Amino acid sequence: MSKFMAGYSQSQHRQIFYRSRLQLSLIYVGVMGMILMVFGYVAHVAITYSFTRMTDRELEVLGRLVTDRVQDQLKYPEKFNLDNDQTTVHLCFLKQTCVPSAKKSSLESLIKNGYYVRFLSLSGQTIAAIYDDPERFPSNANLSYSYDVLDQQNQPYHLHLLPLKTTAGEPWGYLQAGQSIGQMNSYMVSLHWFMVIGIPLIIILISLAAWYLAGWALRPIQVTYDRMEQFTADAAHELLTPIATSQAILEVALSTEKKLKSVAPEFIKQQQNLEAVARQIKRLKDLTQDLLLLSRLERAATAIVQQRICLNEMVEDVAEELMTSAHITGINLSVNLCNQLVYITGNSQQIYRLLLNLVSNAIQYTPMGGLVSLELRESAYQATIIVKDNGVGIAPEHLPRIFERFYRVNHDRARNSGGSGLGLAISLAITKFHRGKLTVQSTLNEGSEFKVTLPIARLK
Ligand code: ADP
Repeated sequence: MSKFMAGYSQSQHRQIFYRSRLQLSLIYVGVMGMILMVFGYVAHVAITYSFTRMTDRELEVLGRLVTDRVQDQLKYPEKFNLDNDQTTVHLCFLKQTCVPSAKKSSLESLIKNGYYVRFLSLSGQTIAAIYDDPERFPSNANLSYSYDVLDQQNQPYHLHLLPLKTTAGEPWGYLQAGQSIGQMNSYMVSLHWFMVIGIPLIIILISLAAWYLAGWALRPIQVTYDRMEQFTADAAHELLTPIATSQAILEVALSTEKKLKSVAPEFIKQQQNLEAVARQIKRLKDLTQDLLLLSRLERAATAIVQQRICLNEMVEDVAEELMTSAHITGINLSVNLCNQLVYITGNSQQIYRLLLNLVSNAIQYTPMGGLVSLELRESAYQATIIVKDNGVGIAPEHLPRIFERFYRVNHDRARNSGGSGLGLAISLAITKFHRGKLTVQSTLNEGSEFKVTLPIARLK
């Protein structure tokens, strides 16, 4: 069984515009938000990458300078050649005292300013550090080339590895140069905070701009729609007068023809023609009145009549009016009312029209011998009227469209049965005008169920 809820009426087209505006804005904000996030992420990766590469290059240069300085002392793998306990750089050996350098070196001030240099064995174990604690960082058993690490005081450092050779060109071990990256990390934290606070702020600004732009883009459509609605109402209104005049003239002509027919039978054909024209004019008048009513309901331009309506009586009246046509078409029309009286407030003429449309449709689209039931239920805040039939039903692809103006599932058949395709559009507009809901469930060749819910009027 297919189900469809006529979720909006054209009378609430402002709501549709509002919703479209909201959707457009959300899409815009979503896209911009995604772009900003991706941009933020890419910026973060790019900054981190370029800083790491820059630091690596700097450490490589430092490493080469130190290597040049100590090269003469690297005669045997993993051992320093210390002549007379003298060295070219101030070396602090693991678990031993430091050996001072023969000359003063600018390396000392570099080390004090956040740099670090140590010598590792071929297996990555620490041998000695320059001017510093050799155990400041864990040994580098994996021989990682470039990595970030915390020292014993939890200060972040970036370390870079360089291979060392003996004076004879054999592998000696490694030199690991490092640089404090505390300052860079605090820049990155500031950048993250900027993104965490800045991106939502930018998104708020974009939302405001998107809301304004979407409204601006939709305004011409809204104006055109309003004009179309106004045009339909004006045209229908203007057509009513000539139609009424033609109808009056035709009635006079028909009564004259009737008299002539009684004296001269050759006027019979002419009278039949006039009657056919009168029928078409009546149809045109009904259609024009329906269009006028519809456009007034949709623009909420009809006077709000607040009558107290007893739905039990109204449902019975509708059933009584249609009982004869149901009987003629061999349909069993049953009525099932709740025990208590159910009242709503609204325009009784319009509510009557709404029920009449639904029940006459049910009769019209149910074959001979079928069943049509009309039921009234009451719950805490609403009255529900269910019009059910076991007729032709509606295919799922047509279901969402049957509430549109002039939409008919089977054009030819509907025209034969006199349907204009405005009935359900009017029913929906009336329901919405009374702050109700109209839903339909249908299965092709099994039947349909239209459900109207309306707010109940409580006695104060
Ligand atoms: P119409 O004047 O053609 O009946 P409506 O607006 O009342 O126009 O209905 C629109 C279309 O919805 C109809 O042409 C018909 O195909 C379908 N329809 C409405 N009610 C029923 C029903 N009870 N059973 C099957 N089809 C229905």
